[in-house]
Amino acid sequence: MRKPLIAGNWKMYKGISDASALASEIVSSCRDKTDIDIAVAPPYTALAAVGEVLAGSPIGLAAQDMHWEDEGAFTAAISPPMVKDAGCQYVILGHSERRQLFGETDRGVNRKLLAAFAHKLTPILCVGETEGERDRGVTFVVVDRQLNGALNDVAARQCPDLIIAYEPVWAIGTGRTATPAQAQEVHQAIRSRLGILFGDEAAATVRILYGGSVKPNNVNALMAEADIDGALVGGASLEAASFTRICGFERRSTSS
Ligand code: PEP
Repeated sequence: MRKPLIAGNWKMYKGISDASALASEIVSSCRDKTDIDIAVAPPYTALAAVGEVLAGSPIGLAAQDMHWEDEGAFTAAISPPMVKDAGCQYVILGHSERRQLFGETDRGVNRKLLAAFAHKLTPILCVGETEGERDRGVTFVVVDRQLNGALNDVAARQCPDLIIAYEPVWAIGTGRTATPAQAQEVHQAIRSRLGILFGDEAAATVRILYGGSVKPNNVNALMAEADIDGALVGGASLEAASFTRICGFERRSTSS
């Protein structure tokens, strides 16, 4: 019932010409994969060029962040209308690198998320615990706090357009993937929290992606879990071959 989404986060990699070339390869290799949603998030400078390459293909365009205001004196910031103007359908919000390196707060993420809905952009809200928090046994406390903060004033009717990415910080860019069972445990807890906030029926419509060292060789096992609805992919999305293999995951039930 939930259509899988595989999204590639290119972070601060690829200038305009490399990004366009990568997008073009992905369009060629993934254009037939219509049973899933696919999106890529290039750096801001390449958004419009990649948007042109993706035009007419089923591959969506995502921004890696944005400000909540429409315009104003916010040097270096990019607004929701600018992100839309560049051709984006999605926006990643609250990525752990934004939280850890750039002081992103739950309140700020909430304002951005509400702005995304107001501008008909689909937010991909990132949550996840650090290694220290997992070791201290507070993973669920941290994720609940991030969800409660970011989803303030969101309505149940908006749930079908909400995407959450569970990204344990200790698994991002480290090659240490959460085991499918570890990921499923948190995904299930996230869905329960969404049930408390919005009701079970609405919570069942939210796609919850896993992110953290997803590779072609571990995606099948992750996607076999009941509450894992896709992946947010960093490093392995920077090459068409590995990203395409991830998009070609095979879903098998863990019970079979
Ligand atoms: C990310 O940055 O969102 C991410 C999941 O990165 P990686 O796949 O490289 O761990």
